[in-house]
Amino acid sequence: MASNQNLQTRKEAVIARGMGNASAVYVDRAENSCLWDVEGNRYIDFGSGIAVNNTGHSHPRIVEAVKAQLERFSHTCAMVTPYASFVELAEQLTERVPGSSPKKAIFVTTGAEAVENAVKVARVHTGRSGVIAFNGGFHGRTNMTMGLTGKVVPYKAGFGPFPGEIYHAPYPNAFHGVSVEDSLQALQQLFACDIEPDRVAAIIFEPVQGEGGFYHAPAEFAQALREICDKHGIVLIADEIQTGFARTGKMFASEYLGIEPDLMTLAKGIAGGFPIAGLVGKANIMDAANPGGLGGTYAGSPLGCAAALEVLKLIDEEQLCQKALAIGEIMGSRLAQLQQKFPVIGDIRVLGAMVAMELVDAEGKPQAELTKALVSTAKEHGLILLSCGVRGNVIRFLPALTIEEDILREGLDIVEQCLQVC
Ligand code: PLP
Repeated sequence: MASNQNLQTRKEAVIARGMGNASAVYVDRAENSCLWDVEGNRYIDFGSGIAVNNTGHSHPRIVEAVKAQLERFSHTCAMVTPYASFVELAEQLTERVPGSSPKKAIFVTTGAEAVENAVKVARVHTGRSGVIAFNGGFHGRTNMTMGLTGKVVPYKAGFGPFPGEIYHAPYPNAFHGVSVEDSLQALQQLFACDIEPDRVAAIIFEPVQGEGGFYHAPAEFAQALREICDKHGIVLIADEIQTGFARTGKMFASEYLGIEPDLMTLAKGIAGGFPIAGLVGKANIMDAANPGGLGGTYAGSPLGCAAALEVLKLIDEEQLCQKALAIGEIMGSRLAQLQQKFPVIGDIRVLGAMVAMELVDAEGKPQAELTKALVSTAKEHGLILLSCGVRGNVIRFLPALTIEEDILREGLDIVEQCLQVC
């Protein structure tokens, strides 16, 4: 039997360092909110493969749906000989994204590709090239999406040059001393000095910055972006790759903001672990590209469509939005109790089952090393935790929305034990 250590040694010999330095937990199997490593150790999974397994690991209904599809056919290329599930998934998603304008969709394979395609569609629709993104945002690891991403290390350092005509503005963040007004003023400054608004094709923002630290966009900020985009004919893109599919207690986090984005990028939770992603938006914008200009060999894979259709049914039937809210309540109140006991816990942010806690010292300075130590101690105690944040001091909690309450509470007990020893 392969051991974790043996696999780690072999991995270091053959996997390039750029894929990160995950610790030695090699997964053998997973079920709902737990996984087991190759040595039989059990872990509660508070990361869900980075916000992917909203429906838990290997949900039996998703397994059945993918198996049944695999037995019928695995691939034909939706751009050559499509199939019903490809159309049905687009029908369902165009119905479910916020707003009453007629919508259309395309499918691709990864989140970064969805963002790439959002920029392509916005550019071809407007005939303009500029794109504005926000500091602290994360949009992927392809050339364009690295360019859009705010954080330099490790995502961008040394990988340039990036495509031109990308501009950044500050995301409102009370913690980092940036108010909504500051952010909007900086945007106006950008328009005055760097790029006139009528040269801007798109503004892209995350309703909650995911990798950036789980900072929430205030509704008035999103509404101001909507007004700016309407005024200047700019396409507003909501990147819901981390926030979508019931994670925040609503199907999409944009619903909290009271806006209809022009385009929405979707991935991660869309198909319970099957790699498929989508771009859904206003039909007149989505239709701007010529036939053949969007897509790809595996775009809208039949296996991905089967998994995604089952995920949508599960979100409704298992009431996963309500479950996300209940998880958020349990986690938020327990973390608030822990905050009394451990002053190192700074701000706690809860939006459904997208929960974060900052680790700070007595002066409020970010504690990145402690955050790393907490993640690795948690693994030793049987809990998978993820960190995030431009300052590296945020623990993010993304349990499966199907997690059993006793396992959720057991995971929180482990957080307490780890805080005691870190
Ligand atoms: N956009 C956001 C908001 C994300 O959180 C991510 C991934 O973490 C991406 C884009 C990129 O998605 P992928 O890693 O599937 O390319």
